[in-house]
Amino acid sequence: MDRRRFLGSSLAAAGGAVLSGRGLHAAGSGPRGEMVEPAQVPGVVPQAETERARFPDGFLWGTATAAFQVEGAWKEDDKGESIWDRFTHTPGKVKGGTTADVACDQYHLYPQDMDLAKRLNQKSYRFSISWPRIQPSGTGAPNMKGVDHYSRFVDTMLERGLRPFCTIYHWDLPQALEDKGGWPNRDLAGYFADYAGILAKHLGDRITIWAPFNMPWTVAYMGYGVGALAPCRTNFDDFLKAAHTLTLAQAQALRSIKAASSKATVGSAYGMCPAYPKTGSDADRAAAARYHAMNNVFFLEAAMKGSYPKAFVGEPPFDRMGVKPGDEEIMHAPLDWVGFHYYTRRIVSDASHVQAFSGGGFSGTEIEADPATGRDPYTRFRAEMPTEGPLTESGLEVWPRGMYDLVTQISREYNNPMIEITESGCGYLDAPYEKENGRVPDTRRIEWFRQELAELARAIADGARVRSFHAWSLIDNFEWANGHTERYGLIYVDYRDQKRTVKDSGLWYGRVAATNRLV
Ligand code: BGC
Ligand code: BGC
Repeated sequence: MDRRRFLGSSLAAAGGAVLSGRGLHAAGSGPRGEMVEPAQVPGVVPQAETERARFPDGFLWGTATAAFQVEGAWKEDDKGESIWDRFTHTPGKVKGGTTADVACDQYHLYPQDMDLAKRLNQKSYRFSISWPRIQPSGTGAPNMKGVDHYSRFVDTMLERGLRPFCTIYHWDLPQALEDKGGWPNRDLAGYFADYAGILAKHLGDRITIWAPFNMPWTVAYMGYGVGALAPCRTNFDDFLKAAHTLTLAQAQALRSIKAASSKATVGSAYGMCPAYPKTGSDADRAAAARYHAMNNVFFLEAAMKGSYPKAFVGEPPFDRMGVKPGDEEIMHAPLDWVGFHYYTRRIVSDASHVQAFSGGGFSGTEIEADPATGRDPYTRFRAEMPTEGPLTESGLEVWPRGMYDLVTQISREYNNPMIEITESGCGYLDAPYEKENGRVPDTRRIEWFRQELAELARAIADGARVRSFHAWSLIDNFEWANGHTERYGLIYVDYRDQKRTVKDSGLWYGRVAATNRLV
């Protein structure tokens, strides 16, 4: 499809667009890993397409990490306690009983890690800043030891030709602010804007690209609604209130960043899953649209339009969300570019007629709804992760086509915005193999990226304006409640001695970055 046709169909499809459930590529032939014949794998992208894929000149190849998952140094340089320190120090919370007190020790080893990124021909590094390093108790004057650390880190990236892409909040709230009520407390919007302003004042001469939040829906729902992530609260009202505070915080932060730095551009790093209706019924299509509104674009729509999308059956529960008159003006803060992650997809069905709602469930994978009931009395859908395609070792379905569908859907719905892919990746446990001089032959990860990237290239060829891709992750790291039981890195980390070994996928990704082709 050429660009004009793509934009044309976008207008036609605007307004409650839902994705169709079909649409697999014909399975291709050619070598695709050892386990299953490729022709038998649903969703596989034919080899001819991966070979044809090209990325534009100047495309920004990158990787992403998050402070809590890589830094360690959990109480160094006057850092305060975060809700994730509290979580990991609570017995029974983390699989394997590990903590992130040391993690990958990137707080100290960052020059070495940035050397590795440079060696892999990287052009962008998405990192996050730990709020409790900057404001140990969440408010007040900055801790200059923390500010100076990130200032040196930013210089180190720039010296290696890496664009520093800053995520301001990737889940590590100062515990002192949780003690004041956490994200359901509306005051946090103002505290967050102050923190963002401090960062822009001290680093905004060098950082030009800022994302206030990583996955705000996950922060609100997993943290306050179902308690799967810190701070582990399980109250649906808290979820609704946290979501609204995050919306206000996103917009207030945008304004404080721009007031402090004239070079700043502000966007997002939303977690998104393309939602396919389970059947062709109107009810399931409407349910998939509600999923998209709630899980994918709730915060994006709020920023762009100053109002929430139709995520609920009937009137939105504004009272329970804590919405006040005048909030629509505060929320309205159009983003300069749109950033989102792609890992996997969802199949969504209607749960309007369910009598007993579970109030949401979390089974340890990415499934958000109790399959026996529905998710909650407001959104009234069931979301499931299908298992038609193969699963990664972290348990997510491999579905390359989802990348194309998601990127083109967001392009249509938001008037072809500039897009940054803020994360995408897969968990496989491959480790150094001594019979091959300690190489890490992680062919499944290479195949995963090759296929997702072919689908991204196809979206770009069809007119989507995507300027970057950040693989999750540069290095193996601390996977939240799953501790060290999952590995997402292009570089292997031995947690006993912090030794880094570039995996075969890292070497491959370095060649992709050098050639703009899926070699
Ligand atoms: C999120 C993942 C996250 C995981 C933490 C999921 O709901 O989508 O991105 O890493 O929770 O265990
Ligand atoms: C989160 C990361 C996480 C990754 C893999 C992402 O959505 O932002 O923190 O490690 O998923 O689960």
